[in-house]
Amino acid sequence: MGTLGWRKYGSDEERDEARRKRARDRHNRLKSNPNYVEDRRTTSREFRRDMRRQALTILGDVCGRCGFSDERALQIDHRDGGGRQEHAEMGARGIIRAVIEDPLPYQLLCANCNWIKRAENGEEHREGL
Ligand SMILES: [Zn+2]
Repeated sequence: MGTLGWRKYGSDEERDEARRKRARDRHNRLKSNPNYVEDRRTTSREFRRDMRRQALTILGDVCGRCGFSDERALQIDHRDGGGRQEHAEMGARGIIRAVIEDPLPYQLLCANCNWIKRAENGEEHREGL
């Protein structure tokens, strides 16, 4: 193998090396654009923050139990419980999207009320003892 004139590359190794080089060149080209990585990161971070803001606004911007309003401690809660399983299945972004589509099953709770609700429902996490 490797001596056939019509083949562009003499061997599989050569072909693979050429393929690796193309991928590396492409990567370097993208990296050398200063906006490339930063843009993507900023966009997705801001996008996520916007989505969350939107969901909080839809849900009334305050804790449904005590009226606490500092969004840093507000959490989206599924009224019927099962939040943890849902979180595992949909991820934070999935839940935010679900709230925006149909907010009725959800409410806002501050971190304190969320823990209290879990304790009342027997959902509390034993790790936290
Ligand atoms: Zn609260």
